[in-house]
Amino acid sequence: MVAKTAGQPATPGSELPEHPDFLWENPIPKRNYDVVIVGGGGHGLATAHYLVKNHGITNIAVIERGWLAGGNMARNTTLIRSNYLWDASAAIYEHSLKLWEGLEEDLDYPILFSQRGVLNLAHTQQDVRDSHRRVEANKLNGIDAEWVDTERVRELCPIVNISSDIRYPILGATYQPRAGIAKHDYVGWAFARRVSQAGVHLIQDTEVTGFLTEGDRVVGVRTNRGDIGAGSVALAAAGHTSTLTDTLGIRVPIQSHPLQALVSELLEPVHPTIVMSNAVHVYVSQAHKGELVMGAGVDAYTGYGQRGSFHIIERQMAAAVELFPVFARAHLLRTWGGVVDVTPDASPIVGLTPYENLFLNCGWGTGGFKATPGVGDVFAHTIATGSPHELVKPFGLDRFVTGHLVDEHGAAAVAH
Ligand SMILES: Cc1cc2nc3c(=O)[nH]c(=O)nc-3n(C[C@H](O)[C@H](O)[C@H](O)COP(=O)(O)OP(=O)(O)OC[C@H]3O[C@@H](n4cnc5c(N)ncnc54)[C@H](O)[C@@H]3O)c2cc1C
Repeated sequence: MVAKTAGQPATPGSELPEHPDFLWENPIPKRNYDVVIVGGGGHGLATAHYLVKNHGITNIAVIERGWLAGGNMARNTTLIRSNYLWDASAAIYEHSLKLWEGLEEDLDYPILFSQRGVLNLAHTQQDVRDSHRRVEANKLNGIDAEWVDTERVRELCPIVNISSDIRYPILGATYQPRAGIAKHDYVGWAFARRVSQAGVHLIQDTEVTGFLTEGDRVVGVRTNRGDIGAGSVALAAAGHTSTLTDTLGIRVPIQSHPLQALVSELLEPVHPTIVMSNAVHVYVSQAHKGELVMGAGVDAYTGYGQRGSFHIIERQMAAAVELFPVFARAHLLRTWGGVVDVTPDASPIVGLTPYENLFLNCGWGTGGFKATPGVGDVFAHTIATGSPHELVKPFGLDRFVTGHLVDEHGAAAVAH
């Protein structure tokens, strides 16, 4: 607590207590760590957790230029599912979904994980064919996926408009019952609390600006608070990754786009599942508190401003009312934007770099919240062993040279 000096105005907030340590501590950075993780979003924090839990590594710093979990982790619409088309994607997202199913217990913190199922609507014959193909691919990968007809869509979500008399009538949907939502802030706080208890240093308000190198090794990071030595450096900085790797001459093919979301005023529980539609382009779920949570696609331009353009919201609202006429009189409460890191094949980049102890995790685009525990686990393995975990092998940076892309563009309706 900072005392007010007589005659001088108090700094706003100075009368408040220091950050409560029962959540996590705000330590003074040490000169060296075994592992420095750049980025204190969900992925950085989850990586620290699994380094501690599975590999016994605790001399770790997570360096965050803002506040913990204040980037995309705080801005996403929290959809969790694993019904992706390609084997490599299905495997990593299903691994993650299984970890979600035990995460509350693992972290000993309520994260409000609610498995309420996701419907990906089909509105055209082409949608129907694509949906059947994805359901069969999912089943082969052991994922709970089924094709449901229009009547079953109505049973699962009674307020959806199944009339055949609309612009895009619903012809059926894919359904993944184990999909769901969780409370994103709680997930971030839960990981932060857990790793802080284990001795991991969470260093906020500190920006990594470059690297210290010796030959083909990175030996530390440069920050706006001085240099910090590192045995290994793991990048979990989402769209800012390429600005960091550029300083080492490593080109990472990600583009950062605005992605917006919005919530309505609080309503009674009217929407029991998650509904996504690519054709009209919107997805909707209802948060525990009662807001309808909606999102759509990215703004077409690139940039790091956390805001998008109005026409996206307007289209999204029109699409929502088309699917759910009952929402026509609901009020929009709040809109916001994030910056998502999009790769040419809409799949993440996780793994090694030309520097033997520098590791990459980025490019999760519009869909990385659901991957949080899964990628934390496999990224930690990759860092601890120095070689890519089986599940991340297909997602290496080298695929943009070899051409082995994992093209998930549009493969699972709206890509969240
Ligand atoms: C509107 C919106 C809706 C979304 N909806 C969904 C969804 O429903 N389901 C889903 O699965 N995903 C969704 N996503 C995507 C998801 O939010 C991201 O993929 C995921 O949060 C990425 O996690 P992260 O930890 O990599 O990134 P972030 O949470 O963004 O963390 C990266 C951190 O790195 C920090 N950083 C950057 N540069 C530096 C530096 N130089 N030094 C130190 N720190 C640095 C940043 O401040 C940031 O905190 C959505 C995203 C948005 C914006």
